[in-house]
Amino acid sequence: MSVVIGTGLGGGIIIDGDVVKGRKGFGGELGHVLLPYQSISGTAGLKPECNCGRTGDLESVCSLTAIEKTFLPYFLPRFPDHDLGKVDLSKAAKLVRGLAEKSDPMCREIFRVQAHALGLFFDEMINTFDPDALIVGGGAIETSKEFQQWFINEIRKGMPTQREEQADIPIYIMPNGDTAGARGAAIEALKLARASGLA
Ligand SMILES: [Zn+2]
Repeated sequence: MSVVIGTGLGGGIIIDGDVVKGRKGFGGELGHVLLPYQSISGTAGLKPECNCGRTGDLESVCSLTAIEKTFLPYFLPRFPDHDLGKVDLSKAAKLVRGLAEKSDPMCREIFRVQAHALGLFFDEMINTFDPDALIVGGGAIETSKEFQQWFINEIRKGMPTQREEQADIPIYIMPNGDTAGARGAAIEALKLARASGLA
């Protein structure tokens, strides 16, 4: 089970070695799964809207777009002297990750809320699939190892209490950065070619 946080939110579910595709190829559209985001502390009045029309799905909270459209308009008035208030939102959104790594309080808070949202989402997946592992990738966490570890710890903090047999599920940062999706697609293509006798 993997999620990739970039401009939007991509995802994939692999069961017994095969990617879940679904009836019409829409399987694993993890970004548009709704979350009980109202339970995340420090977000009273937050209304995360997704391009797909839903309010409060995973992409509406965990994406660069969410930082620009939802989090900066929500948090900047609460941090009125913040430097990011002086630049336009799309530019500011791209600076949030770097500032979060440097422990800027507002930017850390944005990433904490995103991590807790992922915790809620992973909890849904754990109860649905009991997966072997949870993997997080994408530009949002192409950061120092320390920041990645902090983010993983925050994901765990955001999860509701897990049953004993679920609590030790590993959470990994995706290796290979941005090429992970391409590698996966290549493996799938090879499997398909072999299955149809082409390779
Ligand atoms: Zn959506």
